[in-house]
Amino acid sequence: MPEPILLDGKTLAKERQLKNRERVARLIESSGRVPVLATILVGDDPASATYVRMKGNACRRVGMESRKIELPSETTTEELLAVIDGLNADADVHGILLQHPVPPQIDERACFDRIRLDKDVDGVTTHGFGRMAMKEPAHGSATPAGIMTLLRHYGIELEGKHAVVIGRSPILGKPMSLMLLNANATVTTCHSRTRNLADIVRTADLVVGAVGRPRFVQADWVRPGVVLVDAGYNPGPVGDIDLENAAVKSSAYTPVPGGVGPMTISTLITQTIDTAEAALLNAG
Ligand code: NAP
Repeated sequence: MPEPILLDGKTLAKERQLKNRERVARLIESSGRVPVLATILVGDDPASATYVRMKGNACRRVGMESRKIELPSETTTEELLAVIDGLNADADVHGILLQHPVPPQIDERACFDRIRLDKDVDGVTTHGFGRMAMKEPAHGSATPAGIMTLLRHYGIELEGKHAVVIGRSPILGKPMSLMLLNANATVTTCHSRTRNLADIVRTADLVVGAVGRPRFVQADWVRPGVVLVDAGYNPGPVGDIDLENAAVKSSAYTPVPGGVGPMTISTLITQTIDTAEAALLNAG
């Protein structure tokens, strides 16, 4: 078996960062204004705080500004909606990121859906999801959109291939399945009620692990030559696929860390710049 290809998200994200820095510099020069991503963090979950910090740092690395909004864990849905309304109306803000998950008393879907479509740079709104599904212009959910960019970059063929996505969350598994379908893969979406999961995975040309359970997908579930995309990020860090044993059987795989994670942030930044360009250049 030939050596598997490492789908190196870290390096690709670095390359995109250079291009994005140039785009931001050009935008500032022509409009006199700096693109701004507003990030909203509700509560004090340390992992969420880390993700928001990483996204703020990524903004700074390309010359963008990040406006950090931190709200207490007892924030109500109405209070959060009011904050989102304010950011929607603020012409200085080009993208809005509401860090998921929010505390349980908050109606997360209502808050996601309040984000104005053109500022939905993380691709979380129902409207944006529907447009993406219909192949209309929209920002895709950042993690699956980043995965698609990575697969395209490495020339991974999807047409007619059987893609098995394990997980159906609104921000990851479900949009992933639709993006693969739109790329002409034949897609099976699996979840916690799926029967004979291992047998289904054995028929896959490409497997996306998006389960949230460390090393959940076993090496003996995958067939030789499979493409493995591990979207999982669990303490360790380890992914949702037992890459230690499964990667050698694959033709290509995303490492953890350094695969899907950097592509998620890179996609968020790229989509914010897209929005800022549309807003600032059209404004003249
Ligand atoms: P989630 O909302 O908890 O969804 C997990 C999905 O896995 C659900 O659809 C669930 O099925 C399914 N599932 C759970 N147990 C299963 C089982 N035994 N068999 C088959 N399916 C099962 O998680 P998420 O937000 O999508 O995240 C998934 C993973 O991706 C996590 O490891 C997370 O850390 C990682 N992640 C990484 C990034 C990144 O940038 N790298 C971004 C987001 C998430 P049901 O729908 O039936 O409950």
